Amino acid sequence: MVKVCSKCGKRKSIFDYDFSNKKLNKRRAECKECRKPQSRKNHSERIAKLGYPKEIHDKLNKLGSGCYGVYHKSVKIGPIYIGESDKIYARKTRHFSKWEDGIIKKDQSPIQILLTLGKIKKEELFFKVLKQMPNSTKKERLDEEEKLIEKWNKGQLLNKQKKPPLLFGIVN
Ligand SMILES: [Zn+2]
Repeated sequence: MVKVCSKCGKRKSIFDYDFSNKKLNKRRAECKECRKPQSRKNHSERIAKLGYPKEIHDKLNKLGSGCYGVYHKSVKIGPIYIGESDKIYARKTRHFSKWEDGIIKKDQSPIQILLTLGKIKKEELFFKVLKQMPNSTKKERLDEEEKLIEKWNKGQLLNKQKKPPLLFGIVN
């Protein structure tokens, strides 16, 4: 499929356009190339919101391949969530942000669901890198994640729970 970009007027493959709404399979009117300056600006603005300089952000991102734990200050026995990522610090941002429209979405992590429901607060959470695995493959990280889940799970991990957990006073 080919589509004409509303900015540069070039005919380009549909894959040269970002999604505006993936669910509805809708794509933007401007091609990726034309949207580059805007995309960069959006990215810098998101980083600026995190409150630390871009150099540090980039450094953290490079560091961060491996497994991590999300902890809640009221749960002393261990992390409440264990995950893996090739960009741990970006993942942290995602976990700790709640959806602004307050609607629970399918791909939200249990942490985000609890935040959205107001059962926990961002300030009560902390994040630790449990194992740094530079240049690891997804499979290696998933294996390590499984080991860590086994090691740390005393019933408090939200990983395998499909519904909002009983922890934090939520009754299913
Ligand atoms: Zn264009």
